[in-house]
Amino acid sequence: MDHSVPPKAEHYDVIILGAGASGLLCAFTAAQRGRRVLVLERANKVGKKILMSGGGRCNFTNNLVEPDNFISQNPHFCKSALKRYTQWDFIELVERHGIDYEERKHSQLFCKDSAKDIVAMLLAECEWAGADIRTHCEVESIATQTGSASRYRIQMQQNGQPCTLECSSLVVATGALSVPTLGGSGIGYDIARQFGLPLIERQAGLVPFMFSDAMKPFCERLSGLALEIEVSCGGRAFTENMLFTHRGISGPAILQISNYWGPGDEVAIDLLPGVDAANWLLQTKQQLPKSRLKTVLTQRLAKALVSELQVLWWADQEDTALAEFTDRKLSVIGEQLNRWLLKPSATEGYRTAEVTLGGVATDSISSKTMEAKTQPGLYFIGEVLDVTGHLGGFNFQWAWSSGFTAGLVV
Ligand SMILES: Cc1cc2nc3c(=O)[nH]c(=O)nc-3n(C[C@H](O)[C@H](O)[C@H](O)COP(=O)(O)OP(=O)(O)OC[C@H]3O[C@@H](n4cnc5c(N)ncnc54)[C@H](O)[C@@H]3O)c2cc1C
Repeated sequence: MDHSVPPKAEHYDVIILGAGASGLLCAFTAAQRGRRVLVLERANKVGKKILMSGGGRCNFTNNLVEPDNFISQNPHFCKSALKRYTQWDFIELVERHGIDYEERKHSQLFCKDSAKDIVAMLLAECEWAGADIRTHCEVESIATQTGSASRYRIQMQQNGQPCTLECSSLVVATGALSVPTLGGSGIGYDIARQFGLPLIERQAGLVPFMFSDAMKPFCERLSGLALEIEVSCGGRAFTENMLFTHRGISGPAILQISNYWGPGDEVAIDLLPGVDAANWLLQTKQQLPKSRLKTVLTQRLAKALVSELQVLWWADQEDTALAEFTDRKLSVIGEQLNRWLLKPSATEGYRTAEVTLGGVATDSISSKTMEAKTQPGLYFIGEVLDVTGHLGGFNFQWAWSSGFTAGLVV
């Protein structure tokens, strides 16, 4: 018979799973209210995605945050949290910590020096407020207890040592599936399933496209070339840079539209945004009848791209003067320049996706508190929820806003 006494459970008011963007903000917000807070992080260090974000400079928010910048089955869900903790609140925090930042195009705010400043700021706030953080924690099970103020009992290993914890409020801030090497994990969905909460299907978002047809070698040959385009799909359009890669296409415009793309969809690319290409070519035919089409197009597009397009669209008239092109043919080429239809075979998937679309269904969560409607004391914040932002600092703003909202009530 085993007479050993099970180790005594440690009690906290609030346990937060995940020391990422939303978890750390929630932690110090709750601790500032006098709650006894513990953050459990599986990785060896906290805030890995913050450190890698924005090319190491963290695009931490955006000067213009609107609900329209977020995708969710319930587009109204994000409004309340975004109002409760705005971009101005986070900017005020950044300024209070003396962090230098700059505004780049599309109102995106980045650290001037390093994303490390943001992690240091969040950790300082946690320390000042008295929130504990433990890394190397592997949660094994979560159980509910009735008749106790500590509703949740967590079994876990820290550095291989078993440990039992209890808390009244359990906050799931474990993020989503994107980039497993930076902590991407599906545990948040497992916890939602355990407590009977519905999930919205997940899909990689803010992610490059790949091709398996003739477009693959086409892109490979142009790899490294960037140009401003307008891309549209699923009723949305973005004007930004596109980058050809070895596998397909990437760059901000493509990452943005990937949030609106589904397998089998075509994307329409306008290579000459703001220019009616058919009209322009027809006028040029009148003005410069002896010019070759390739020469004319290189006024507005990179030579390498025009050479590749020539192979696709007018290979048989490579050396023909513009005057020899029928108006019909020039109109078709112009229309293709303004609406080049491409069918990606897939995205690069979670390995490189900045975010995960879908997640815990927001209908099962209170937008005022982030608490599960059917499971008292259980909260979900950040990317694990079915709220995904556009590129431009919106995903961090959602993490801050939802983390703060829960931090006020846990
Ligand atoms: C490369 C890259 C660049 C990005 N750049 C930007 C940007 O510039 N601007 C922007 O707005 N957004 C950016 N994003 C998106 C942004 O990082 C996320 O939306 C945001 O971090 C989500 O916050 P979160 O708190 O929900 O999750 P995370 O910040 O991912 O934190 C989740 C934490 O939970 C931990 N965890 C996971 N499983 C467990 C477990 N079982 N037990 C304990 N802990 C666990 C993880 O290790 C992680 O520390 C970027 C994403 C990537 C991948």
